[in-house]
Amino acid sequence: MKIRRTLPGLTAACLFALALGMSLPAAEKTRLLVISGGHDFQTNQFHQVFQDNADVVFGAFTHPKAHAQLRPEAAKNYDVMVLYDMWQPISDEAKADFLAFLKSGKGLVILHHAVANYQKWPEYEKILGGRYYLAKTMVNGVEKPPSIWKHDVDFTVRIADPNHPVTRGLKDFQIHDETYGLFDMAPDSHALLTTDEATSAKNIGWTRTYEGARVVYVQLGHDAQAYRNPNFQKLIAQAIRWAARKD
Ligand SMILES: [Zn+2]
Repeated sequence: MKIRRTLPGLTAACLFALALGMSLPAAEKTRLLVISGGHDFQTNQFHQVFQDNADVVFGAFTHPKAHAQLRPEAAKNYDVMVLYDMWQPISDEAKADFLAFLKSGKGLVILHHAVANYQKWPEYEKILGGRYYLAKTMVNGVEKPPSIWKHDVDFTVRIADPNHPVTRGLKDFQIHDETYGLFDMAPDSHALLTTDEATSAKNIGWTRTYEGARVVYVQLGHDAQAYRNPNFQKLIAQAIRWAARKD
């Protein structure tokens, strides 16, 4: 969790990658809007997770141009938004577009450092169903210390609800990943993943609904060591399917 200085002139990525997998006709694939920016990551290896998913096609966009994809004329091309950004500025127009996307019943999958987005937009916390504290924060009269992170931890992810479509078929698994501590899941989110790892908060994956939208948060996914974990890939594929109401 290191904030990256955004390079001026950094342009929106790029590809509207047509997945090569042939398991579904193109018209039935889930169309993903994948948003990044504000935090470094292994771009090609991350996108490989979606290229290897035969059920999706995706467009990948980077801030500060990504919000343009939420305008109604662009948003109609997507079924699910995947957030892998760590970004603070958001205009009133982009807020309204973001909320309209969700109110139309489309899905939202929030990954890893995107938990720390939009710290000054209180509605994001309600959408996410949790909160990461980039700085010391007063919450209902209680002082919350800044959340913490630790790289390169080997730990066990426990499946808190094996009957949910997002976690179905998954068993407790080991992963090598970054942990986040001292961040919160909201009491009205539904826990899917937990861990006993000391450097991590207990709840590290959950679901909820926001307006008409199905929302999933997964804390995992710092780098390729996580992206390559088959359990991570299955989890993300099932999160997308559930968010798209295709479970
Ligand atoms: Zn990370």
